[in-house]
Amino acid sequence: MNGWSLVYEDYRPEQEGLREALCTLGNGYFATRGATPDASADGFHYPGTYLAGGYDRATTEIQGREVENEDLVNLPNWLALSFRVGQGPWLEIDDVEILDYHQKLDLREGVLHRALRFRDVVGRTTWWRERRLVSMAQPHLAALAVEIEPEDWEGTIQIRSGLDGRVVNEGVARYRELEGRHLEIFETERIAEDRILLRARTRQSRLELAMVARTRAYSGHEEDEEALEVEREIDGRVGWIAELLMLEVGTSRPVVVEKTVALYTARDRAISEPALAAGRELGEAGRFARLLDAHRLEWRQLWDVFDLELSLSAADDEEETQGKLRLHTFHLLQTASPHTTDLDVGVPARGWHGEAYRGHVFWDELFIFPILSLRMPSLTRGLLQYRYRRLPEARRMARYAGYRGAMFPWQSGSNGREESQKLHLNPKSGRWVPDNSHRQRHIGAAIAYNVWHYQQVTDDHDFLYDFGAELILEIARFWASIARYDAELDRYEICGVMGPDEYHTAYPDSDPEKAGGLDNNAYTNVMAAWVLGRAHDVLDMLPELRCRELRERLAISQEEVDRWIEISRKLRLCFHDDGILSQFEGYEKLEDFDWKHYRQKYGDIQRLDRILEAEDDTPNRYKASKQADVLMLFYLFSSDELEQIFEQLGYPWDPDFIPRNIAYYLDRTSHGSTLSWVTHAWVVARSDRSASWALFLDALDSDVADIQGGTTPEGIHVGAMAGSVDLIHRCYTGVESRNNVLHFNPCLPSELERIRFGLRYRRQLLDVEVTRDRLRITSRPFAAWPITVAYRGHFRELAPGERCEFRLLTPQERDREVA
Ligand code: BGC
Repeated sequence: MNGWSLVYEDYRPEQEGLREALCTLGNGYFATRGATPDASADGFHYPGTYLAGGYDRATTEIQGREVENEDLVNLPNWLALSFRVGQGPWLEIDDVEILDYHQKLDLREGVLHRALRFRDVVGRTTWWRERRLVSMAQPHLAALAVEIEPEDWEGTIQIRSGLDGRVVNEGVARYRELEGRHLEIFETERIAEDRILLRARTRQSRLELAMVARTRAYSGHEEDEEALEVEREIDGRVGWIAELLMLEVGTSRPVVVEKTVALYTARDRAISEPALAAGRELGEAGRFARLLDAHRLEWRQLWDVFDLELSLSAADDEEETQGKLRLHTFHLLQTASPHTTDLDVGVPARGWHGEAYRGHVFWDELFIFPILSLRMPSLTRGLLQYRYRRLPEARRMARYAGYRGAMFPWQSGSNGREESQKLHLNPKSGRWVPDNSHRQRHIGAAIAYNVWHYQQVTDDHDFLYDFGAELILEIARFWASIARYDAELDRYEICGVMGPDEYHTAYPDSDPEKAGGLDNNAYTNVMAAWVLGRAHDVLDMLPELRCRELRERLAISQEEVDRWIEISRKLRLCFHDDGILSQFEGYEKLEDFDWKHYRQKYGDIQRLDRILEAEDDTPNRYKASKQADVLMLFYLFSSDELEQIFEQLGYPWDPDFIPRNIAYYLDRTSHGSTLSWVTHAWVVARSDRSASWALFLDALDSDVADIQGGTTPEGIHVGAMAGSVDLIHRCYTGVESRNNVLHFNPCLPSELERIRFGLRYRRQLLDVEVTRDRLRITSRPFAAWPITVAYRGHFRELAPGERCEFRLLTPQERDREVA
C-alpha cells in the first residue's frame, strides 16, 4: 500500500477472493469485483457484479423449515474476456506460467490495472496489460481496455468477449446450501456489428435489466481513432452470449481490445426501457481514454472534498497509513456516491462488494453518516430517505408485534421488512442455529440519532419539517410503547431485547429456540431515553403549523407527550461491582470467561460465539462480548451529554465513571466485529492515546489484512472503513456539532503530528488544520451567515472568508485542568 494505491506484485490464487473484494470498482449505482476477466466462480475466483439495491428473495428448505432470504443478486458477469491462439485453449490465468505480475488499484483515478506476462503450454510468451473502470461520471457505464502483446510469436488470435448470465449467488460458503438462483435470462442477441445484448429478470422481485457490451479492437496505439476491421462471430449458449473477434497479432503488432458495457434496469429514471437506454448510452460513449477523462475528473472532485492529509511522527509509516485511509474513503464512496442519492437505497454493511449479509442495511450507518454529513450532506439526506420510505413498513412491524410507532428491522433490504435470517450456519460445527439478532431493537434509536445529527450539522430544517421529525416521533412512540412500568421500582423497563453485543441473545437458562432476549440493556435504555427527549425537542423546533399537522396526523396527544417525558426520566439502568453499568439486568451473575485458556486453545477467538456453539456451549453464559455495548454510549455521546442523560434519569455520575467502565468492558471483549476496533479506539482516545492508536491501526487493517481471516473476500466492511476515517476526522480532532456550535477539542495520539481536512458545516466550507499546539480554521469566501466555533469553552464567530486560530493546551495543561 502506498499513498494512493494498493499494489500486488505477484499472483496468488488463494488470495484472489480477498483482492477481488479490495479491488472492487463501483460508483454507487453498481459495483464489480476485481476478478480477472477470464475467471468464473471456481473456488479461487468469484466475479461478481451487484446493483445498489438489487435484491431478490428465494426460499430453501432447511431442517424441515421453509427459510426465505433476500439476497443481493449477483448480476451477469460483464467482464468475461479471454483469447486463444488459433484453435488452442482459452487463456485462463491459472493454466499459464506467470513470468511477471503487477496489479494496482489506483485510488486517485479509480482505475484497476493488471499487467501479466506469461508463457503458455506451447512456450509462447505474451503480455496482457489491462485497465478497467466503473464510471463515476456516467453511472451506467463500465469499461475494460486490454492490450495483448506477443513477445516471441505471431499468429491469428480469437478474442472472446461475453456477457455471462449463468452466474448464481454462491460467493459465501456458508450460504451455499441456500437457494442462490435469482436470474432468468430471457434474451441474448447481437444488436449491431460490435454489440451484444443480454436481458435478464430477477426471479422473485421481477426487476428487469439489460446489459449491452460493445467490443472493439484497435491497432494498439491510443491515438488511433479507427477500430480495426475484424471478422466477428457470435457464440450463443443458454444464458450466455459472446462475440468472437479474429485478429492478427505479432511482436510488433500488439492489439488493444476495448470492451464498454452499459447497464440499466427498469427502475432507472428518465428512460423508456432498459435495453433501449443501454444501447443509447453506449452509442454516445467514446473510447476508453475519453471515458477515463470524465471518470478521473469526478474522482478528483470527490477527493477534493473527502481527502484527509496526515503527517505522522514516523515518516516511514505515513504513506501506508494515508493509503489505507484513502482505500477506506474510496470504498465508502464507491458504495454511497452522488449517484446513490437518487436511488432508493441505504448503506449496506459490506458494500456492494460481495454477498455477505446479502447487501442488507444495519445500524452501521451510525458509523458512516458522520463522514458524509460533514463533507457532502446531500448523501446523508438521500440515504435517510431510504428509512423514511420504509416508515409504513416499520409501523406495520410495530403493530404486528403489539407496539405503537415505528419498529425498524435489524436488517433491511428492499421493502423494509425484517430481513435477518431465521437460522444461520455455524461453519465450525456445521449446525444450523436459530438467529435472534432481530431483537436488536436499538436500530430505531440509531436512525433517530442519525436524523438528529444530520440536522445538527446541516441545519436543514426542510428535512426535519418534511421527513425527519416524523421519523423521530414515530421511533420515540415505539420506545414509549415497548417500555413497561414497574410500580415497585417506579421505573420503566425494556425487556426481551438485545444490545449491540450479539453474543448475548438470551439468559443462559432460557430455551434457545424461544430465546427471549435480555432485560434492561443499558445501551438500549439510554438510547430510548435520549430519543424520547429529542422527540420532545423536535415538537418545539417545528413551526407551530407543522407541529399541529404532524400531531393531528399521527394523533399525538398532550398526555402522550407527557408520558414520553416521564419515561425519558425513569428508564431503568442496572449497576454492579460498585459503579459498573450492567450491560443488561443480571449481567453480574454470568460466569467469568477464561480468556487465557481459549486463546491458548484456539489462537484466534474473535468469533467466540462459533467456537462455543461448536463446543455445545454458548457465550450467553459468560461475561464475554463480541463488541462494544455499554461502551457504545461513550462513542456516541460526549461525557457532558451523558452526564446530562444520567442526571435526567436520576442516576449518580462521577468523573471516574467512564474510565472505570471502559477498563471493565474492554477486558471482556473478543472484537468479533470489525466495528469493535473503531469504537474502542474512539472511547480510549483521551485516556490512553497509544492504545487508541494501536486499535485505530487494527481498524485500518481489518480489510486490507483480512484481520478476521476470511470475511473480507465476501465484501468489505463499510462501517469499519468509514469509522476508521472518522477516528481521524472527528475523534482525534474532537469535532462535534452541538447546540448550534461546532466544537473542536483536539487530542492527537503521539504518532500524529498534523491533520488537514475540509468540512462543510451549515453552508460554510472550512479548511481545518490541527497540529500538536494549534488549531486553525479557515472559512472559504461565500455568502452565508457566520457560524460559532469553539475550543474548550472559548467561542468565536466565524464568517465566510475569515480565519481563526486557537492555541491548544499541552497534555500536562489538560491534565491539570481536569484535576
Ligand atoms: C455486527 C453488527 C453489524 C453487522 C454488520 C455484525 O457482525 O455485530 O453490529 O451491524 O455485523 O456490519
